[in-house]
Amino acid sequence: MIIVIDGPAGSGKSSTAKEIANRLNIHFLDSGALYRALTYYWIVSGKPDIRSFIKLLPEVDISSEYRDKQFYVALNGEDITNTIRTQHVAENVSEIASKPQIRAYVNNYMRNLVLNDIYIADGRDLGTAVFPDADLKFFMTASIEERAKRRLKEMTLSDLSITLKDVEENIRQRDLKDQSRASDPLKKADDAIEIDTTGKTFDEQINQMITIIENQTKLN
Ligand code: C5P
Repeated sequence: MIIVIDGPAGSGKSSTAKEIANRLNIHFLDSGALYRALTYYWIVSGKPDIRSFIKLLPEVDISSEYRDKQFYVALNGEDITNTIRTQHVAENVSEIASKPQIRAYVNNYMRNLVLNDIYIADGRDLGTAVFPDADLKFFMTASIEERAKRRLKEMTLSDLSITLKDVEENIRQRDLKDQSRASDPLKKADDAIEIDTTGKTFDEQINQMITIIENQTKLN
């Protein structure tokens, strides 16, 4: 069984999906972390041109695990959970994620992962392209100011020099790229339930979504 949450950068998808996973005792899957992991791999491979990079994909071993309320990602056995949250990765991830072959790699990984358990996943195209038959679909939104503030909070430990303006600009650029790419752009699925979190407390939005999940799925 799979529940998906799509939405733009910083709309609160990951923290929401994580909290719901904890309260309902199901697994969490962070698809953005997988795109970030491949972006990190591209950086440490010396930023090759995209054709050469795609040739490296069969050699890469990405693994992930949701444990102790954290989505861990490893690249060839090395834990890169924190490294993928840097501004350097954020600045390049939308470009890497725009490539169809990269998307196919990540989609394949995710579809295999969710086969045997109950998952709540967050991303940009999960309800439209990856899991069009998902059991339940949400689309989360929030104002750009609120989204930038949330992202800055998440980054302060790894990137002390980043300002709110930098984060806002990065989010604006990524939204634009994510919405305008030819391959599976960020888009609300027709049958997704829209949740606007601007001005809502975290608890309010979680309770609203859990009520919907309990009413519309077999999970309760
Ligand atoms: O969710 P997060 O902000 O960590 O995602 C990082 C980037 O990965 C996004 O800006 C987007 O370019 C890409 N992404 C995507 N499709 C997804 C999830 C993330 O293209 N399903």
